[in-house]
Amino acid sequence: ETCRQDHGGENLMKAWVYIDHFKGEAVAASWEAIGAAKALGGDVTAVLLGAGAEALANAAFEYGADEVVLGDDSALADFRVENYATALSALVSNATPNLLLFPTTSRGRELAGMVAIDLNTGVLVDVVAMELDGEKVVATRPIYAGKLLEKTVCNASPQIVTLRGRAFAKPEATAGATGTITKVDVNAGDEKSTVEGYAEAGGGVSLTDAGVIVSGGRGVSNNPNLTAPDGMSDEEAEVWRAQQGFALITDLASTLGAAVGASRAAVDANYIPYANQVGQTGKVVSPDLYIANGISGAIQHIAGMRNSKVIVAINKDADAPIFKSARYGVVGDLFEIVPALNEAMKAKLGK
Ligand code: FAD
Repeated sequence: ETCRQDHGGENLMKAWVYIDHFKGEAVAASWEAIGAAKALGGDVTAVLLGAGAEALANAAFEYGADEVVLGDDSALADFRVENYATALSALVSNATPNLLLFPTTSRGRELAGMVAIDLNTGVLVDVVAMELDGEKVVATRPIYAGKLLEKTVCNASPQIVTLRGRAFAKPEATAGATGTITKVDVNAGDEKSTVEGYAEAGGGVSLTDAGVIVSGGRGVSNNPNLTAPDGMSDEEAEVWRAQQGFALITDLASTLGAAVGASRAAVDANYIPYANQVGQTGKVVSPDLYIANGISGAIQHIAGMRNSKVIVAINKDADAPIFKSARYGVVGDLFEIVPALNEAMKAKLGK
């Protein structure tokens, strides 16, 4: 509205949204970014780079893009930040949008930073809300591990913003919506690196997209009734016990169609890979439901999950700080409660 007033009825906001995708599938937060751009008013262009990425153009229209800029080139078959940044920077400097949005994924963050260097502008990262002040986007983002929200603007142009996943609503898809696809030649620059292959980091539901997360902490190894097989060192026995514990967490997660998360203590002790870590130095998540098992609730863990809609904590220490953040708390041994909860959920869900 402010923008319209400033420009005598004409809204000059021209937003580009980078559609992040991997192996032919778009990251859902890209559609959320289209919705966030539409909410600011003005035209929204989705940018699709890749080889064979045209298949995603229809979805971009269905989620609200007015136009799709498609850079299809074999040099972009695999995501390599140097090539993608070279191509995207050239497109953006030609078309001069005032706003360039990315989802806050690893690829999105990396690309946003490199494009900002190319275009001599800045990046506002991990933004959770946006409003307009004239042509300036006033971005809200959490600081101090999520304890405060800061409003910030970028005075250079274009304004580049990465949006936190699940912080903006995914627009309703309009089936059959279409629009203009503008095919552009891309200059992907020299090949500086090659992709030799991909290894699965564990599969299952992605943490950042998940609506439900079941997480485990150091407490997951603490089952005195479990005796590790003979011949293991103390450290090996602890990891073995933790694996038995995480099997319970994973069972509950699969009943709920949830992703599996972990505290840093669990990751540092080799119970589970770093890809599962939630927190200040792990992933920032905002599911509808977060179930924390055997996690004490250190501030660095809370920083990664405090935006969950409902937090449930299962911990045998009634004074554990996690209970301060939880809507529902169960004081007890996770080795009794998690299997019981799993059975109850299976019965409820008819599984
Ligand atoms: P603990 O604090 O040891 O808690 C284990 C909990 O399990 C206890 O509350 C205990 O009562 C409970 N428990 C034990 N047995 C059972 C049982 N049988 N049933 C039920 N409950 C049981 N941490 C993160 O998680 N993510 C981060 O990204 C992160 N980044 C960090 C960055 C920095 C710079 C620093 C300094 C620290 C960071 N940490 C992070 C570490 C953080 O400070 C904590 O050390 C960590 O979160 C503790 O993990 P935890 O809760 O699993 O372990």
